[in-house]
Amino acid sequence: MTDFVIETPPTPTIPVVGGGAFPVRRVYCIGRNYAAHAVEMGHDPDREPPFFFQKNPNNLDASGTFPYPPHSEDVHHEVELLVALKSGGTNIKIEDALDHVWGYAASLDMTRRDLQGQAKKMGRPWEIGKAFELSGPVGPLQSVANVGHPDAGLIELKVNGEVKQTGDMNQMIWKVPEMISYLSDYFELAAGDVIMSGTPSGVGPVQRGDEMVVTIQGLDELTVKVI
Ligand code: MN
Repeated sequence: MTDFVIETPPTPTIPVVGGGAFPVRRVYCIGRNYAAHAVEMGHDPDREPPFFFQKNPNNLDASGTFPYPPHSEDVHHEVELLVALKSGGTNIKIEDALDHVWGYAASLDMTRRDLQGQAKKMGRPWEIGKAFELSGPVGPLQSVANVGHPDAGLIELKVNGEVKQTGDMNQMIWKVPEMISYLSDYFELAAGDVIMSGTPSGVGPVQRGDEMVVTIQGLDELTVKVI
């Protein structure tokens, strides 16, 4: 057994409906994967090659609270379907991709939009806007055995009871099997990797005290309080 020279950090996990926990290895996030959101961010909605960024595994948090982060005056919600992998590999074929999925969860890609905007303008990486503490509120994982592979149906975010983001999962520009296949051409995917599959239009700011409610057809509702 390895003799660790410091106390081993805890393994980041996502709770599973019915018990147990899913250990997280990596977090990939796709950018601009719904046409209407690409347009609202000032981009062409045509099917250009997908692009990805990463959050840190321990940015995911299932506590139901989101602490407003420092150094931002413009923190945005992005509601997303999270895909959790039970296996991986390289050069995975699109038709085989769903065999690697363990389950799905509702999630939020919380974003310091002002800092992300500055980074974009200066050609700098996005981590300061995307990969901060607790920036990935997540609901409990549902297994494929329970819910199959949700590829259509409502994806919605309400803030304080008002619908802010709404779309249909069938509007994803790059579908879940295509994202898995594409990522596996550039990275070695493995059990424990998760993919946040992009957000529909309607992103906008939250304030302390707001209550965000995520509805994704087939999954449990996720409620997150901004504190
Ligand atoms: Mn996003």
